[in-house]
Amino acid sequence: MAIDQKLLEILRCPVCVRESDDAGLLTLVKDVWLVCQTCERKYPIRDDIPVMLVEEGDRWRATAVDALPDTPPEPAV
Ligand SMILES: [Zn+2]
Repeated sequence: MAIDQKLLEILRCPVCVRESDDAGLLTLVKDVWLVCQTCERKYPIRDDIPVMLVEEGDRWRATAVDALPDTPPEPAV
């Protein structure tokens, strides 16, 4: 099941939305990643739930969109 389009429209990157309401728009990639258009942090969607944690976004920030795994790995512990 893909993420709900309405949810996607209201979600913003938690880092960038602090700067401006217009910042932090997200792009859905591979149905399981939300990529911030402003800072390029990448948030995984696990079990259809977007994990909008800055730590998660930071973890994938340097990873190219093309290099993101098709299934988000479990969080590091
Ligand atoms: Zn951002």
